[in-house]
Amino acid sequence: MARPRASLCLPVWACLLVAACLLLPLRDAMASPVVHAARIGEHGEVTRFVLETDRPLDGHLFYLQNPDRIVLDLPEAEWELSAADGDAMGGFTGRGVIRAFRYGLFQPGTSRLVLDLARPATVARQFLLQPAGAMPHYRFVLDLEPADRTAFGRAAGSTAPKVQRAAIPAPAVKPRGDTDRQVVVIDAGHGGVDPGAIGISGLHEKDVTLAVAIKTANLLRRSGRYDVYLTRDRDVFLKLRERVAIARARGADLFVSIHADSVGDPSVRGGAVYTLSETASDKEAAALAAQENKADLIAGVDLGGENDDVASILIDLVQRDTKNRSAEMASFTVDELRQQARVRTRPHRFAGFRVLKAPDVPSVLVELGFMSNRDDEAMLRGDAGQLRLARAIAAAIDRFLARREAAVRQ
Ligand SMILES: [Zn+2]
Repeated sequence: MARPRASLCLPVWACLLVAACLLLPLRDAMASPVVHAARIGEHGEVTRFVLETDRPLDGHLFYLQNPDRIVLDLPEAEWELSAADGDAMGGFTGRGVIRAFRYGLFQPGTSRLVLDLARPATVARQFLLQPAGAMPHYRFVLDLEPADRTAFGRAAGSTAPKVQRAAIPAPAVKPRGDTDRQVVVIDAGHGGVDPGAIGISGLHEKDVTLAVAIKTANLLRRSGRYDVYLTRDRDVFLKLRERVAIARARGADLFVSIHADSVGDPSVRGGAVYTLSETASDKEAAALAAQENKADLIAGVDLGGENDDVASILIDLVQRDTKNRSAEMASFTVDELRQQARVRTRPHRFAGFRVLKAPDVPSVLVELGFMSNRDDEAMLRGDAGQLRLARAIAAAIDRFLARREAAVRQ
């Protein structure tokens, strides 16, 4: 009687074993390649750039001018370069024709390496060396040679990626059905290959903005009163248009972009809140009107049968209302920031930030403080300081949305 049981059991564990054997290499194949080290050597005129990786790597390379750069797009990778390699100023110090380099997630699936050039140079050779002897890793090698301006310009012209329109999701009709909650989109500035401002002790703006954005979102979510979205919740690059597009696609009632400033004068400190300046705003409205479906632009207003003049008047009206509400949010934010941290002498300012140009969504850009000031940077770096700033922003958002909620109910 034992035999049937044994024959039943055997295939089960055998199957598990086979499954495990099949899954292990699959998991290994799906893991991101690891970049263990980056090295730069000079051999006469040639500057050799080497990435040490745990598996063969291939990338797409192109050149950009003003300033001169070589860009290499790779599969999404884990970067394990040690700080000792010189990650002091948001980029690693270069040698030869490479002035500096930096890397990071460009978009999900793509890591980007950027070589800032000290002078025009092109890649003469690109090859992969297998692990051998004392070298346990694959080595992805770029040999750079100086080029004249014309040759570099030609290389940039023939390799630069076509400027792509950001994939803008269609503005969603606000899901008011079951929840009736207002929507806030919080935007952590910079990210991935774009570190933003670099603090005096090497702190990256992109890390500060992400930490404060996540803390703000968590505070608001705890209340359960609003739908809270982040434009990014990890260290990834996003185009400005994509950030605006996320706010519009989520049907945001409010868009708050979080940044930290930097200037040459280390004594300048304090937070400030920006809204869009008048002239830039009008220009953007015109561009949007031309580019995008007008019926989609202003949710709930059907412009399909209207002529252009009426349409532009309606867009102008929406913008004026948006501008007033953005200014209201700016004043709440200044009030709340003042309770938690230092603000600048003229704390509400106007500028043509592209990230604020969603004409139908009230938007503010918060500069938390100065990375270039020792005291501000200490506040921006620490958990307690970040939480104070997040509390201020969350309180301002709460005031803004609660007031709107009360207005809608009347
Ligand atoms: Zn910034």
